[in-house]
Amino acid sequence: MPQRLREPNNPMPKEWLAKDHSQQYIADYKPFNFVDGEGVRCSLYVSGCLFNCPGCYNKAAQNFHYGTPYTQELEDQIIEDLGHDYVQGLTLLGGEPFLNTQVCLKLIKRVRQEFGHQKDIWSWSGYTWEELLQDSADKLEMLSLIDILVDGRFLLAKKDLTLQFRGSSNQRIIDVPKSLANGEVVIWDKLVH
Ligand code: SF4
Repeated sequence: MPQRLREPNNPMPKEWLAKDHSQQYIADYKPFNFVDGEGVRCSLYVSGCLFNCPGCYNKAAQNFHYGTPYTQELEDQIIEDLGHDYVQGLTLLGGEPFLNTQVCLKLIKRVRQEFGHQKDIWSWSGYTWEELLQDSADKLEMLSLIDILVDGRFLLAKKDLTLQFRGSSNQRIIDVPKSLANGEVVIWDKLVH
């Protein structure tokens, strides 16, 4: 009999909360890269994710204790790196950024305080747009402060390595401010494929 592919976990709204899971650990920080969104970016990989997608691109970072604690020194370094004219913005990945809102909200607010909207903020999430809208206040606050959300689990059955900034075809690159203003998902207008 053919083996059925295991599905990622599917939480109920507000079932998983950052306050119950996040250890405020960082799996990696990659300044000045070209792969995590548009332009030159500084990328923070937070630790911990509960979706457990088969084929996850960063399985080690599913562990909330993986890596090292987020520190003020690292935050200061990120702000300094973002200050270069050639850097377009900050990217949050994981792990699951929306299960590490203590770290992500603090950093996002600092970026807005230092740079206003001169730098853009992208975040990846295993949650879909629709799921985030039904979830906890910290997730909604984070959503309201970012520019681009790449949403949804990685699905092996829909894997497509030709896609721009996504691993599977169910995932979307969403313009967050326009989507919130319109009350429906608006796809990033620079989407190529
Ligand atoms: S949502 Fe992303 S980080 Fe989490 S298990 Fe799936 S692929 Fe891995």
